[in-house]
Amino acid sequence: PEDSPEATATTATGSPLPHGTAPGILFEKVVKRFGDNVVLRELDFTVSAGERVTLIGPSGSGKTTILRLLMTLEKPDGGVIWIGDRPLWHMDRGGSLAPANEKHLHEMRKQVGMVFQQFNLFPNMNVLRNLIEGPVRVLGLSKDEAVERVRGLLDMVGLSDKIDAHPSQLSGGQQQRVAIARALAMQPKVLLLDEVTSALDPELVVGVQDLLRDIARESDLTLLCVTHEMHFARDISDRVLMFDQGQIVEEGPPDQIFGEPTEQRTKDFLQAIL
Ligand code: ADP
Repeated sequence: PEDSPEATATTATGSPLPHGTAPGILFEKVVKRFGDNVVLRELDFTVSAGERVTLIGPSGSGKTTILRLLMTLEKPDGGVIWIGDRPLWHMDRGGSLAPANEKHLHEMRKQVGMVFQQFNLFPNMNVLRNLIEGPVRVLGLSKDEAVERVRGLLDMVGLSDKIDAHPSQLSGGQQQRVAIARALAMQPKVLLLDEVTSALDPELVVGVQDLLRDIARESDLTLLCVTHEMHFARDISDRVLMFDQGQIVEEGPPDQIFGEPTEQRTKDFLQAIL
């Protein structure tokens, strides 16, 4: 029945997600291939509005691909991805992905922010320019409005004194704090975190994790996080999804997944990362 017309017809009737201030995320039978490599196989999962979910699983299992699909850095080969009550891509009547409507994608992209493993700051711009670039260019704020907006964020991440510094003058931890502030400066409703502390020196990891934990607790952002760090996943998430070979193997509250996993693949994975 998975391939029946009834199954795909549900996508035309509207998303079942609740409508809070933050939208939820819904993957419906999402397929993603790279050549012959089928990375996601009719993947279904939901992140409720305001929920904080961590994806764990072996390297190469498709976790980053999920985040990149949500950022529209990749396009699915099938299925529908919803953010709130709107699909990212439109399906035509034959069930194929309709050509991207740039205006719609632009609107959808504004809702989603991402923090990357490698920070991805603009190296030729100082901290202030890094932060105001998006609000000015993408959201159309005036420079003064943007500066106003980002001052509070810089204060929150503890870098007000680095406003004129260039990324190369900052530690990895400071660069990642700037990247977090930059993502938040766009006032996203969904925040994606992709292995955000993997590139940091060990002594800088906890500070960045504590900052993100506080942001997660104090905001109503919908959060989707990929991490290998179990205590961070415990701190930051309501629910953990164990992911392997393009499918969810097991899911539950962090205490259950890390404390009493039921699936052998989860046990093996947790053993391997300890
Ligand atoms: P994870 O984040 O779980 O480590 P990824 O989503 O990065 O996994 O990768 C899933 C699979 O997709 C891997 O086999 C990877 O080689 C492949 N893949 C990811 N991006 C590309 C790409 N741009 N071109 C070809 N293959 C890719």
